[in-house]
Amino acid sequence: MGSWYKKSTSHKPLKLERFYKSDRWHAARREVIIRDKGLCVMCGKPGTQVHHKIHLTIQNVDDPNVATNPDNLILLCDYCHNEVHHRVGKHQPYVFDKDGNLVSKK
Ligand SMILES: [Zn+2]
Ligand SMILES: [Zn+2]
Repeated sequence: MGSWYKKSTSHKPLKLERFYKSDRWHAARREVIIRDKGLCVMCGKPGTQVHHKIHLTIQNVDDPNVATNPDNLILLCDYCHNEVHHRVGKHQPYVFDKDGNLVSKK
């Protein structure tokens, strides 16, 4: 939940907003937080955001292999989450190996 987002619905499609309020998301999120021991997988600080490695879109939000699959989810802190989103849009320095580990492209 980026509080820096304006309280406008235009940022996030309604379908995704509804998903983020759903029980299945809260259950999946809780599972990931427990699995990752409450820590950001990138820097080890307390994690606050569960990130989709395959980015969630209105096309795949109904696909449980993407939307709520723990293999597609990692716990990040605010800072790293911002970094990931920021960079992924630009030059994608981060890739994930087959085990779902974050590896930094040199
Ligand atoms: Zn972090
Ligand atoms: Zn994310």
